[in-house]
Amino acid sequence: MIVDGTGQARDMNADVVVIGGGIVGCAAAWYLAKRNVDVVLVEKGDIADEQSSRAWGFVRQQARDPAEMPLMIACNRIWQQLEDELDADIQWVQAGNLALAADEARMQQFRDWLPVAREFNLETRLLSRSEILSLVPKMTGPYIGGMYTPSDGHAEPRLATVAFADAARRKGARILTYHAAEKIETTAGQVSAVVTDRGVVRTPIVINAAGARAMTIARMVGLSLPQLVVRATVAETTPMEPVTGAGVWGPGVSFRQKKDGSFYIAGGAQSDYDITLDSLRYIREFMPNYLKNRRFFRMRVGAPLWHDIARRIPGTEDNKHPFARTVGIEPTPNAGTVLRSLKGLNRLIPATSELRIRRSWAGLIDTTPDAIPVIGPVDAPQGFIFATGFSGHGFAMGPIVGKVLAELIVDGAPSIDLHDLAYSRFAEGRVGKPKSVV
Ligand SMILES: Cc1cc2nc3c(=O)[nH]c(=O)nc-3n(C[C@H](O)[C@H](O)[C@H](O)COP(=O)(O)OP(=O)(O)OC[C@H]3O[C@@H](n4cnc5c(N)ncnc54)[C@H](O)[C@@H]3O)c2cc1C
Repeated sequence: MIVDGTGQARDMNADVVVIGGGIVGCAAAWYLAKRNVDVVLVEKGDIADEQSSRAWGFVRQQARDPAEMPLMIACNRIWQQLEDELDADIQWVQAGNLALAADEARMQQFRDWLPVAREFNLETRLLSRSEILSLVPKMTGPYIGGMYTPSDGHAEPRLATVAFADAARRKGARILTYHAAEKIETTAGQVSAVVTDRGVVRTPIVINAAGARAMTIARMVGLSLPQLVVRATVAETTPMEPVTGAGVWGPGVSFRQKKDGSFYIAGGAQSDYDITLDSLRYIREFMPNYLKNRRFFRMRVGAPLWHDIARRIPGTEDNKHPFARTVGIEPTPNAGTVLRSLKGLNRLIPATSELRIRRSWAGLIDTTPDAIPVIGPVDAPQGFIFATGFSGHGFAMGPIVGKVLAELIVDGAPSIDLHDLAYSRFAEGRVGKPKSVV
């Protein structure tokens, strides 16, 4: 883990400031530094303190919203050579992504997604139960078939994120950990500085890669970002002999077996939702998605709401330093989800019945009303760029997002069209229903 030794950010200048040391911010820092841009990354905690160390690690093209496909197809090619590119072990395994169907209705959803795969020349195919059994003989539990994409893979999120930060630093990027961005200054409609709790970095360009805190960063320049936060739980089991290298989305459990034989398991789309002031603010935008998926969410009222209220009261410490309480926190995992996930794994693969839970954790996921990210510049202020709202599947996309942001800044335009993911879609009414299938 990186602990940066360069000290204070006081009186710095930079071509670009990246706010957020998750995979998206670190990848942006790497690709910018590679293009000889003078980049400073500010991270309020340590590198990969939030989502990017808590993700399962699935890197899938399969079952995505068509709007994400051009980015994700290009990103898969990056992942295949990323260990060489970054000169680091990130535990990359390319053994496919396999989504299982418990019934015909689910199988039909997979069938309906196949035209998307064909449009992007992806080798996704439907598999019968017997074909799946020949791929994963120990997976004898209840399912009727599935959808498989051999070129998908998985990697270790924290290792990948730290590898990007290390590589960026070797190329000259300044990575300032334990520096929280608290204010963004503008001059004549143009970004001019990022004020952190430890000093000022003057810059004409800011990338908001602050993940679950990106709404607060957006408010610093007067922008309203319809993004809410859900809490998802993951657990790691004790190890066993290899069962499958594929990432599996089964009924009741999603899992991947790591190189050391242990499994990361999670309860599929199940997550907890802690109500905050933004829940009320964006209720209209999120209601259609909530109504469609309400069986997956458990609502809670607790500390996140009280902290949010405290942050909005002028003059309080929480208001002056809105991120102070968010550093180094451990969101509470849902013990029931851990138990259900383990039972789901045991049901699907009876040979796992002896496995025990080694550890569990939770992470706060940034979600948008259409469950696709917000990437690209805004009309005003100039120089403010979004890279957030990845809605639970941004680890896989992090590398390409960093790359296209570098292209946007250095070349003036990204090599992949970002129109469908633009912030302007909210004002222009271009917000559809979520179209991903897992
Ligand atoms: C449990 C779980 C499972 C997941 N599984 C997968 C998966 O299998 N595959 C997949 O593709 N995705 C997955 N995701 C989603 C994925 O982790 C995220 O989409 C991705 O990590 C987002 O990266 P990021 O860099 O945008 O955000 P983050 O990793 O959250 O990074 C944002 C950073 O910004 C910092 N920050 C915030 N505010 C400030 C500030 N004011 N000043 C300075 N720094 C600040 C934070 O400390 C944080 O480190 C999962 C997420 C969770 C929680």
